[in-house]
Amino acid sequence: MILAGKKNSELSCKIAPEVVCPKCNTLNSTKVSIIGTYKHLLSIPFFAGKKFGKSDCEHCNQTYNLAEMPDPIKLAYYELKEITKTPLWFYVGSFSIKILVLIKIFSRYF
Ligand SMILES: [Zn+2]
Repeated sequence: MILAGKKNSELSCKIAPEVVCPKCNTLNSTKVSIIGTYKHLLSIPFFAGKKFGKSDCEHCNQTYNLAEMPDPIKLAYYELKEITKTPLWFYVGSFSIKILVLIKIFSRYF
């Protein structure tokens, strides 16, 4: 059983319009995804990590990670990243610990 580690979660994805797949030349078949990483303890997310991206062609299954993405796909990726926020549940763990600590501090005074 893994107690702590890093996990990935797909935050959002969309078909990049007007992007032609460099491999199979199909229009509107490239899916761009934003993946968020988080660190977890006992499967509870604690810290949000970096976001990264990948693209998949739904026609020929060609995938690219961010570093090797052709420019038009990269552009679509950054557009999507711009509107993708880190979900709050990524911070659930550290948030509940803060609450617990606050309760402990305040219980001394009441
Ligand atoms: Zn393709």
